Amino acid sequence: MVLGVTFWFLLSSALSVAEPTNDLAASRKAVVYSSCKIPNTAALTFDDGPYKFMTNISDLLVSKGAKGTFFVNGDNYACIYDTKVAARLQYAYSNGHQICSHTWSHPDLQTLSENEIAGEIAQVDIALMKILGVASPFIRPPFGSYNTLVRQVAFQQNKSLVLWDTDSEDSLNATVAQSEGIYDDAISANLSTILALNHETEQTTAQELIGYAVDALQAANYSLVTVAECLGLEPYSFVGQLGQRDTTWFCPEDDDS
Ligand SMILES: [Zn+2]
Repeated sequence: MVLGVTFWFLLSSALSVAEPTNDLAASRKAVVYSSCKIPNTAALTFDDGPYKFMTNISDLLVSKGAKGTFFVNGDNYACIYDTKVAARLQYAYSNGHQICSHTWSHPDLQTLSENEIAGEIAQVDIALMKILGVASPFIRPPFGSYNTLVRQVAFQQNKSLVLWDTDSEDSLNATVAQSEGIYDDAISANLSTILALNHETEQTTAQELIGYAVDALQAANYSLVTVAECLGLEPYSFVGQLGQRDTTWFCPEDDDS
């Protein structure tokens, strides 16, 4: 009896060791970036769109000689394929901002299975290819939440994870003054680089906070660049032509026909 248990223990141990080495891809994990790398750069990032303030944010950044990075969902505040939404996305992209994935439906990826995680990533990849003609190598996990499985699946889909080192707390009920104070504190700390989290779905972020943050960061001699630029990486793993609307441009959840 004891021998039998020992045998099964050894066999199961051998199997559990053998499994990852038989599937190298499954054991490799996506890189996680939490900060920029190029000195004197600041990357302003905007999550949870594309939403109605995207155009305003794009125009504001361009008017100040700055670029931003948008981590977009497929179907969160709006369906990415809706006519106005897709047009805003193409507008921001065409104005030089970087577009990355924030998953299709904004779930906590730690709660999902391997297939579900893969689907959340793939659906946005398909949308960005259809609408912008690009493939993004960057994904921001909703809530900054990830585990080893998330990193493994992301790696298999050629993604790096992008977090942040400065949270404006605009989605955490911070007042505009408090969010401005967070930028002031980051600048006062004399950080070499800043990778800041904002939400394009917050009206006060679009209309008040970002103008202040850009002015303050530029006055402190930061270059306002995209995440790819602040990391010294290429923004896209594939760049083609802007897409033309066809019958596949719809969100399955909204299909009430
Ligand atoms: Zn989010």
